[in-house]
Amino acid sequence: MPVTAHEIHLKSRPSGMPGPENFEFVERRLADPADGQLLVRTLWMSVDPYMRGRMTDRPSYIAPFQLGQPLEGAAVGVVEQSRDARFKPGDVVTHFAGWRDYAVIDAKTARGIEPSSIPLEAWLGALGVPGETAHAGLLHFAKLRKGETVFVSAAAGAVGSMAVQIAKLKGARVIGSVGSEEKARWVKEDLGADAVINYKTAGNLTEALASAAPEGIDVYFDNVGGSHLEAAIDATRLYARLIICGMIARYNDETPSPGPRNLAMFIGKRLTMQGFIILDHADLRPNFIREMSGWIAQGQIKTRDTVVEGLENAPKAFLGLFSGENIGKMLVKIGER
Ligand code: NDP
Repeated sequence: MPVTAHEIHLKSRPSGMPGPENFEFVERRLADPADGQLLVRTLWMSVDPYMRGRMTDRPSYIAPFQLGQPLEGAAVGVVEQSRDARFKPGDVVTHFAGWRDYAVIDAKTARGIEPSSIPLEAWLGALGVPGETAHAGLLHFAKLRKGETVFVSAAAGAVGSMAVQIAKLKGARVIGSVGSEEKARWVKEDLGADAVINYKTAGNLTEALASAAPEGIDVYFDNVGGSHLEAAIDATRLYARLIICGMIARYNDETPSPGPRNLAMFIGKRLTMQGFIILDHADLRPNFIREMSGWIAQGQIKTRDTVVEGLENAPKAFLGLFSGENIGKMLVKIGER
């Protein structure tokens, strides 16, 4: 029987910082699923900084959102109808048709979640892309070693809070950068960072980092770019690795900003810089899931979510990422199981 769905569409493309006017709440009737498809009812959806890039019409590693069409992104939902032998009604799955309460999806884009004591929303946070990104960035790309010093920007965010904890579990000294005192307390007292910088009150970031890491840093996990990257380069030790995960400080720029002024340090200090997109590294996922599930089961990883209720408030949740309104993972709760 056809279902009435509610969806958030891209109404117009933003220039600079997006606003509520770029989104539209739309109601429409869905066709029944065809062979190989599922009807899913979404419980939780993720909002992520990279979605800002998809609002702009330009070539990238992932296609831009289309005007007048629903946005998309990671979500957790329940199968309501199945036309695929691998799934049955009631199964819980992760899927990529977020920004909607109901969606008809290809079954091959869904991944089943086995029943466990782990909350379902963790599959969008610690066990989802944020955890996977932090794990790959530190262990696969930076090849972090015990005793090294790591600097993590946006350290109270979804990826950053995982990076801080994974680095601590691997025996590193960790410095985090955050945008509020409440975040600073959480990252230091609960997540175990050795030092935290509130970049909004610290003044000169290079000086603040030099005093937090007097002997320099071996790894920088960059979520922010801009002045954070420049300060991190200033703080590097010989052979340090700079892992470029994201540059949220730049995502709303209308024209590209000048890069770090201290790139010449790469030569004398023999630095390396590596960018990556986690979607390319599905091969790392089984090992990540095994290790992260173990840490969660043993209470060694703390998770925190900032939950916005209701699909109609998803744009507000998304926009809040750019003003630091989240502590931990920003999520939208759309339905009850
Ligand atoms: P977060 O949960 O970290 O949310 C964004 C945070 O960024 C905000 O809470 C805010 O915290 C901080 N922030 C926003 N604007 C600025 C600014 N101008 N300067 C400094 N900090 C700012 O988001 P995610 O954990 O989901 O993503 C973190 C980064 O990782 C992003 O850059 C994202 O694009 C990237 N990413 C990359 C992936 C990859 O495959 N390479 C995969 C997933 C994410 P505060 O209050 O501290 O300022």
